[in-house]
Amino acid sequence: MGSFFDLLFPPRCPICDGVRFSGEPVLCPGCESRVSYIREPSCMCCGRPILNEDREFCYDCQKRERSYTGGVALGTYEGALRESVLRFKYDKREEYARWYAQTLYERNRLKLTRLRADAIIPVPMHPLKERKRGYNQAASFARELGACLDVPVLEGVLIRARKTEPQKGLNDVARLQNLLSAFAVDGDKLSEWKKDHPFERVILVDDIYTTGTTMEACARLLKQAGVLRVSPVTVAVASGFAD
Ligand SMILES: [Zn+2]
Ligand SMILES: [Zn+2]
Repeated sequence: MGSFFDLLFPPRCPICDGVRFSGEPVLCPGCESRVSYIREPSCMCCGRPILNEDREFCYDCQKRERSYTGGVALGTYEGALRESVLRFKYDKREEYARWYAQTLYERNRLKLTRLRADAIIPVPMHPLKERKRGYNQAASFARELGACLDVPVLEGVLIRARKTEPQKGLNDVARLQNLLSAFAVDGDKLSEWKKDHPFERVILVDDIYTTGTTMEACARLLKQAGVLRVSPVTVAVASGFAD
């Protein structure tokens, strides 16, 4: 389909950004080994790999209060995958979302289906920022994941109420407070959605997972709105303070 379109916007390998011909697998054969896929065991909360097999949670999740569980990620935020996610986010490579979601799904089918999610919610971006960027990469990834899992994607219920103040120099508590006031749940939209849909288990989607503070803020708000379980699904997780 669309060879003219392919000439203008050729499909690109999400790892090296090299041009691919339509009909070829989107990932070059040589790029597969460059992806820092998550290896088990991984943290039962955020999905980050853990070295100590006797533990269920990573160091960060053990010492912090977490309102989410059952996290799954495609890989660690380093090397070629890190470069890829940065292009996905800042360099208009929205198309990578499909490969991220499909690969994540193929590698974690059981884990993801066991979450029995009622909805997939992307971490929202401030509307002005989204307009400038042209897309919210978390939402693009969420839609592709929704197609794999056959779970509806719910946008516009969890919203960005205001721009986040600079987080630098703030301690954990202040960062969380800062983010809790940056997000909000649109009660009217949620009531509308709940008329026809269950809303007990939610997959919360973001591109990068770092400290988990964003996830925590969003998960708390969703739980206050009646969700029983929130599970974070991300493209890449940064390594914690200690593994
Ligand atoms: Zn490649
Ligand atoms: Zn963790």
